[in-house]
Amino acid sequence: MLFDFPEIPQTTKARVRGLAERGRLPQSILLTGGSEKLREKCALDLAGAVVCDNKNNGAPCGRCPACKKLKAGSHPDVIPVRPEKDRKNVSVAAVRELVLDRLYVAPNEAPDKVYIFYTAGELSPLIQNTLLKTIEEPPPYVMFLLLSEQRDTLLTTVISRVTEFTLGDVLSAERKNKAEEIAGIALGVAKALARGSEYDLMVSTAPLTKNRALMKKTAEKLILYLRDAAAYGQSEPLGGSDEAAVMLHAAFTLPQLYSLKDTLEQLASFAAANANENLLQTLFSSRLFEAKQIKDRSETAGR
Ligand SMILES: [Zn+2]
Repeated sequence: MLFDFPEIPQTTKARVRGLAERGRLPQSILLTGGSEKLREKCALDLAGAVVCDNKNNGAPCGRCPACKKLKAGSHPDVIPVRPEKDRKNVSVAAVRELVLDRLYVAPNEAPDKVYIFYTAGELSPLIQNTLLKTIEEPPPYVMFLLLSEQRDTLLTTVISRVTEFTLGDVLSAERKNKAEEIAGIALGVAKALARGSEYDLMVSTAPLTKNRALMKKTAEKLILYLRDAAAYGQSEPLGGSDEAAVMLHAAFTLPQLYSLKDTLEQLASFAAANANENLLQTLFSSRLFEAKQIKDRSETAGR
């Protein structure tokens, strides 16, 4: 059976199996959630459902020559797209060479060919845009499998052109580390703001340089801290850091907290759009500092 792994939600299993049985698997599929291993196993499952010579209700047999080649990683019609050695990300050149230039070359052995993007969530916006038309309307004998831990690291235009299967909400060690990293940076920024130090703000936001995804997540975390600070003592904290909430609550008035929250919402949407990554960190710290100063001045003037 396809997707025969206990951690996958029943609804996903039923959807995938139903489509495969009727021979109606979509041509552009996004696999999200679960661990990296699980996403890879499911991708091979789907590739098997395409290349296997001896399918049973749409599921690969695991024993025929095609299935054996797939397992050995040597099936000519299953093409992995991964970052080249010593590179963090897939290059535009590689995408052209592996995918776009050979797209209209018919499959070698199987009825269809399958491209597996192992790090789809980390593809640059440029590459995602380059692939857009192809993903929307692949040649009839092509299947695209995009693997990503989270859907929101992909462009919305890409997401709207694929069928997503969620493999569950397993909190991988990697993701847990990431969550801790984000909380750490957000706490540093909160401290710098409470202290009113522009220098500390620059230092604490330094890890956000050229990292749109991290900046967006940090801004979202800070918004939660500010919300917690504004509602301090009245409701359960949502941000998971009492320290940040207490500190911000003590340092700022309610209007200041709301103004900072507005600024962060703007910054989060800047980061989500394709804003220049080089400028984002500078923008992040200077905007926050400005928002704080303007409020400081109006407070003093009002007294
Ligand atoms: Zn087979």
